[in-house]
Order: sequence, then C-alpha cells, then structure tokens
Amino acid sequence: MNEFELIRTYFAREPVTRPDVALGIGDDAALLRPPPGQQLVVTTDILVSGVHFLPDVDPAALGHKALAVNLSDLAAMGAEPAWFLLNLALPEVDQAWLTRFCQGMFELAHRHGVALVGGDTSRAPQVTIAIEAHGFVPDGKALTRAGARPGDHIYVTGSLGDAGLALKYRLDKLKLTPVELNAVAECLDRPQPRLEEGLVLRDIASSAIDVSDGLVADLGHILERSGVGARVELKRLPLSVIYRAHLKDVGWDLALANGDDYELCFTVPPANLPALEKIKSRFPDMAEIGMIESGSGLRIFDADGKLYAPKAAGHDHFR
Ligand code: ADP
Ligand code: MG
Repeated sequence: MNEFELIRTYFAREPVTRPDVALGIGDDAALLRPPPGQQLVVTTDILVSGVHFLPDVDPAALGHKALAVNLSDLAAMGAEPAWFLLNLALPEVDQAWLTRFCQGMFELAHRHGVALVGGDTSRAPQVTIAIEAHGFVPDGKALTRAGARPGDHIYVTGSLGDAGLALKYRLDKLKLTPVELNAVAECLDRPQPRLEEGLVLRDIASSAIDVSDGLVADLGHILERSGVGARVELKRLPLSVIYRAHLKDVGWDLALANGDDYELCFTVPPANLPALEKIKSRFPDMAEIGMIESGSGLRIFDADGKLYAPKAAGHDHFR
C-alpha cells in the first residue's frame, strides 16, 4: 500500500462533514470558512512512542487520546471544536494498527462533530502523532490563563489522579483489582475532553486551563499568568473512590502532579458563583478546591492546616 492509498483508505473517508469545509482532504491544502464574528482557536499536541505512550498501547486508545488532548486544549479556551489535521509518522504500514487507530480517533471526532481536513504522512523510526485542532470562540470571549483575581474560587471538573493510578499499575508499581483497573485505565486511555463545560464556563470563569501536566504545574500557570497566588486544601481534592482506597499507598502526589487527567481547572469570581450553582445540575462534577489570593505561588494545606509540599512537581519533558 503506497502513501496515497493509505491516505485514501484510512483518512479521506472521515465520518464528519461540515458546511464550513469548502475543500477537505485531497488537494494541496484545505479551504475552511470560520464563522463571522468568531476568533479561530488553534492548538497542536505531539505524541511520541516511548515518551507519551507505551509502544504496545491499544491503537484505538491512542487514536482517541491523540485527538482528545487537543480537544481538551480547545475546551480550556472555551472554544467549540470544528476541524483537525493529522500528522502521522509510522515505521511501517500495519493495516490492523491503522484500522484500530482510526476507529478510536473517528469515534471521538464524530461525537464532537469535528472534521479531519488534512495532514501529512511519513515514515519514521517510531510512531509519532501530531494533531492540530481548530475551533471557534466569539470575539473576545475566550477563557485564558490570565484572568484570575484574588478572591476568586478555584474549581476542578471530574476527579484527579486516576490516570496516574493506571500508569503506576502498568509500570508494575501498584496492584489493582480487575474492576479498579478497568475504571482507571479508561481515564488514562480515553480521557473525555470537557468541551461542554468549557462552553458554559465562558460566561462564568475568570481563567481556565486543562490539567495535562498535573494540578500543581497547571494551576501554577494560571497563577503566573494572572500575577496572583492561591491556597488549595488537600481534603477538597476530588478523588475517586478507587483513589481513596489506595490513598495510603500512593499518597496525594498522583492527584497533584502526575497529570494526564485532562480535567479543567478554572477560577470563578464571587459575583459569578450563583451562575455556577445554576449549571451544577447539568455538571455536578465540579469541586471547589481553594481560593485565589494576592501575592504569588501555590500553598497546599493538609487536614491539620499544615503546609504540604508535593514531592513531584508535574510533568516537564526537559527537566
Ligand atoms: P503534499 O505533498 O502537497 O503535502 P500530500 O500528498 O502529503 O500532499 O497530501 C495529500 C492530501 O492528503 C492533502 O489534502 C493532505 O492534507 C492529506 N493528508 C495527508 N496525510 C494525511 C493524514 N495523515 N491525515 C489526513 N489527511 C492527510
Ligand atoms: Mg504531504
């Protein structure tokens, strides 16, 4: 199978068609029509075998995750996703692998109505996947990392640390029952981007970020960009029943600093708390974990009110 057959077979028969795609895969470039009055939100993320995923990972999970991490960035901006490009480097054409990869990727694309409009395909010594996703946000309405103010309340969606539990299990450093493993593996392999939450938070939150490198690092980015500090209470961290069952062994740091959670961390000014209450019936999984303060840096307090210092600082490729 040559490069062009491969593109035709796997990528040019995508399930999502959109009226704003004037020309998709097949020409030298795609022709796209952003809606008037909206800003184009653009993001990209790279996944490298052996760095971001274990080489024997289920290709369907990989296809899902490669797109999910990009949609999560759009969610954190309060954007509505529209299109994506797929840059794929492979050591060989493994048709069974490609079929599964596309299943995982297109299933998620279909769920959120995002169209694959182009990409590039190459041979490389190891699997590398770079997706670029595009979305829209009404002019001036994007959620950024820079809007947090002292007195704002800090929230996270979902729960933290379950992907970390699954990774620890796969690295043979933690025992889990099959039922526990099933649940946490889903968090690691198929994170669900919080796109609906991002859209409604546009009018409520003062800042937002997705938790990809761990809460300490990612909330840290909000603090730095906003020029503020924060306090967070360990006992308010949203942990799953499974995490709580293993808290004694694994401690707090998988929830604070492992990353790969793809939840949203966001801040809400006091004036917008009633609006947040209103959306809680639709989105009950939003936990308040602390407060923005003046100054700088993050202070984490344990149940006795003592300062807690995490041993890990969050993911950084070049540290
Ligand atoms: P060029 O040589 O001009 O870069 P290509 O032959 O690489 O063109 O690509 C032909 C068409 O196929 C383009 O529309 C391109 O966007 C698309 N394409 C190539 N690889 C992929 C891929 N992995 N996923 C989606 N579309 C792809
Ligand atoms: Mg090309």
